[in-house]
Amino acid sequence: MSQNINEKYEHDRAARKTFKLRIIYNKKGCIAAGHCVLSDPYDFTLDEEFKADLKESKEGEGAQKGVFFKDIETTEPHLVMNAARTCTPKVIAVMDLETGKRIA
Ligand code: SF4
Repeated sequence: MSQNINEKYEHDRAARKTFKLRIIYNKKGCIAAGHCVLSDPYDFTLDEEFKADLKESKEGEGAQKGVFFKDIETTEPHLVMNAARTCTPKVIAVMDLETGKRIA
């Protein structure tokens, strides 16, 4: 039986595995509720309009203007995964760069 994705990441986190993740944040859809900052204050902060900013990220160009990208290495993947899951308009996505799959 295959592990579900939560069990897999919890198991590997307990083993102190370092994950390489990409955070993708579409600021245009942010409704300024702030859940992401509570879940992951290492990667998110709020701007003067209480919209989220993805710290130390790069903004896309052209059609991707307003979309921000950041690659991280972390032993605590649940922080940013929770940020993505608790974002009401679902404007945060997390990719595992080793598998190429979206995990939140
Ligand atoms: S949780 Fe989503 S909607 Fe709320 S501040 Fe963060 S990005 Fe914006």
